[in-house]
Amino acid sequence: MWKNRPSPATNWSFFDTAMETADSRFAADASGEAFPSKSAAVCRLPSAICRLCPGGNLVEQKRPIDGRGQYRPGSGCPPGSGLQFEKIVCSLSFLHVPVKCTEDFSFAFCSFIPSMYWSKTLIPTMKETPEGAEIPSHVLMLRAGLISQVMAGAYSYLPLGLRTLHKATQIVREEMNKAGGVELLMTALCPASLYEQTHRIDVFGNVLIKTDLQRGGKKIPVVFCPTHEEEVTDIVARFISSYRQLPITLYQIQTKFRNEERPRFGVLRTSEFIMKDAYSFHTTLDSLNATYKKMYAAYSKIFSRCGLPFLAVEAESGPIGGDASHEFMIPSPNGEDKIVHCASCGYAANTEKAEIGGGDRALDASILLKEIAELDTPGAHTVEQVCKFLKVKPTKLVKTLIYLADDKPVAVLLRGDHEANENKIRKVLGTQKLELADPATIERVTGAPIGFAGPVGLKESIPIYADYTVMSVVNSVTGANKNEKHLVNVNASRDYTPTKFDDLRNAAEGDPCPRCASELLIRSAIEVGHVFKLGTKYSECLGAKFLDDDETQKTILMGCYGIGVNRIVAGLIETSYDESGIIFPVNLAPYEVVICPMKIDDEKMMGLAQVLHDEWESRGIDCLVDDRDQRAGVKFKDADLIGFPLRIVIGDKGLAEGKLEIKWRWEKGSTMLPIEGAASTIATMLDEERNTSTHFRASRDI
Ligand SMILES: [Zn+2]
Repeated sequence: MWKNRPSPATNWSFFDTAMETADSRFAADASGEAFPSKSAAVCRLPSAICRLCPGGNLVEQKRPIDGRGQYRPGSGCPPGSGLQFEKIVCSLSFLHVPVKCTEDFSFAFCSFIPSMYWSKTLIPTMKETPEGAEIPSHVLMLRAGLISQVMAGAYSYLPLGLRTLHKATQIVREEMNKAGGVELLMTALCPASLYEQTHRIDVFGNVLIKTDLQRGGKKIPVVFCPTHEEEVTDIVARFISSYRQLPITLYQIQTKFRNEERPRFGVLRTSEFIMKDAYSFHTTLDSLNATYKKMYAAYSKIFSRCGLPFLAVEAESGPIGGDASHEFMIPSPNGEDKIVHCASCGYAANTEKAEIGGGDRALDASILLKEIAELDTPGAHTVEQVCKFLKVKPTKLVKTLIYLADDKPVAVLLRGDHEANENKIRKVLGTQKLELADPATIERVTGAPIGFAGPVGLKESIPIYADYTVMSVVNSVTGANKNEKHLVNVNASRDYTPTKFDDLRNAAEGDPCPRCASELLIRSAIEVGHVFKLGTKYSECLGAKFLDDDETQKTILMGCYGIGVNRIVAGLIETSYDESGIIFPVNLAPYEVVICPMKIDDEKMMGLAQVLHDEWESRGIDCLVDDRDQRAGVKFKDADLIGFPLRIVIGDKGLAEGKLEIKWRWEKGSTMLPIEGAASTIATMLDEERNTSTHFRASRDI
C-alpha cells in the first residue's frame, strides 16, 4: 500500500535537529494539526492531502525517518484511504504537520518546490553603462540584466525582464476581463489584401513590414500586423450578424511590428513590441460611449496598479468628434510626445488637441504704429536667419505659410515662435485635405521663392487665416513676396485684413489654460495607452454589418483601445529609479523579495532562506534566494540595481539574536525583525503593498 519514493537530495541534518523538537511536540498533539513551537528551530515537514474527504482531512503522523514518513489514515478518512504528499509545508513561527489522507493508494513523497536560486537563473548584471544607451530605462534594463540587445531596436527579454513583462501583462488581462473584455489571439502575419481594403497599406507606408510567402510557386503578399483593426473587423464581419450579438469587446495581447527607421531609447521605440489591443463593436453610439467609459476606467486602474504616474490627456477625436479620444501619458523628460498640462485645474491634452485660452487679443492702442518699409534680407529665408539678420526676436515676426486646402491655396499667419497645428487649421477651414503647398504653387501665389511670403502684396488674392496672437504683434516683420526681401512695421488691419482670426497653432508654455486661464505647462511624456472611438471607418471597408431589431442592415460602430505593454515597464523605470538602480513596485517586480544569506555554506542560513522561500512561494509571493558566493556589498548592489522591493538579509549577528534584517528598496534604512513570525508578518506587509502600493507611491510622490 505504501510506496515510498526517494526524497530529492536534501541536507537533512539540519532538518533532523528540528525534527527532534517536532517529534517531542508531536506526541502531545496526535491529531497532527499545527502546534506551536517555542523554539526558533526550523523544520521542513511533508504534508499530504486527502482527496476523498471534503476539504482534506488531517491524519496522524508518525515520526518521519530520514525524511520519509510513515502515515496512516486519520479517524475521519474513509476506509482504504491512502496518503500522498502534496507539498512541503514549513513555517518559521511554528512547526506544523498538516498531514492529510488521500484517496490515492500510492504514497509518494512530494518533490520539493524548486527554490529559485540566483545561481540557477540568468541575471547578467553590469557595472558599467552600456554603449549607446542614453535614457535611464534603457541603461538600467540592460545593466540589471532584464533585456539583451539583438540589433538596433530589437531586444530579448531575459528571465527577470520577462517576469516583469508577465506581471504587467497579467494586470492588463485582469482589468480587461473585469471590464467585460473577451480575449482572443489573432495572427501576427496577415494577408496584405486586408490592408488594401482599408487603404492602410498606403497610409502606413514604410512603417508597415511587408513580405511575400512562397507557396508552390505562388507568392502571397502578407504584412506583419502593426495593429489588428483589419483582422478583428474581418472576424466580426464573418461571425456577427445580429444586434443580439452586440455589444462585444474583443482583445488580445500580441506582438506587433512597425518598421522604425530610427529605433532608439531602448524598449520605448522598437520594431517589435507587445500590445494589448481591444476592439469594441456596437449597435448605437450610447453603447459605444458606455464601453469607452469602462475602458477609460480600466486603463486608469491598470496604470495605477503598475505604479505609473499617468495623465489621461485629451487627444484628436477623429471621425466621431467630441470627447472621443484619450491618450494615457507618463510625464517623463525622455518622453517623445509633448503634452499640455494645467497644474491648477488638471486640464491635459496632447499638443495636437490642446486648446489655447484667451481667444482674441486686442491691440494695445497706445503703441505707435510705424511706417511700413521694405528691407533687403539676402540669404535670410528662415525665421532664425531673418531674426539674426534684422536683430529682432521671433515674437516680432509673422510667418506666412502657404497651404493647399482641398487643393486650393490659402495663407496661414503665425507668430514667428509658434508652430502650426494642422488639425486646428483643417477644422477652421472645414477641409478634409491639407498640405503645405509645393514650391511652384508658392512662387505662383506669392511671386517669390519659398521663405519670402507675407500677407502684404500677395500676387494672387487668396484667403488669409491668422492666428489670434498675430493680432497683437505690433510693427511686425513679414516676407515681402519678393526674393531676398522682407517688410518691417507690418500691422494687421492697417496693412492687410485677414479673412479670419482663430486658434491655428500648437499651445506653447505659458499660454493661458482654456479652462481656467492659468499658465499652461508643456511636458514631455511617454504614451502608454490610447482609447479611441473609431466609428464605422473599418466596419464600412470590411463589411461588418448587423441586422437591427427593425430588420434593417446597419454598419457596426467600433472603438479601439491599445496599451503598449513593454512601455509600461520602460515607463515605470523612467519614473522610478535612483543612483543605485531601478525601484520596482511590488506589482511589477521580477521578484518581490530577495533573500540574501550571508554565508552560503552555512546550513542554518541556507535552511532558513529555503524555509522562508517555500513559505512565501506557497502564499504566492515571488522570492529569489541569492546563493552566490559573493561579498555582501556585491549582493546588495545587485539587489538595488534590479530594484527588488524587499531585501531580507540572513546574517550571523541577526541569527544569534533570532532576527532578520529587512529593507524596502525605496527606504534608506533597514529594520530588524524577529525570525519567529517573520514569514507571516512579511507576507502580510507584501500583500498590503501589492494591493495598495501605498509605500511605493508615497516614496515616488505619486
Ligand atoms: Zn486650467
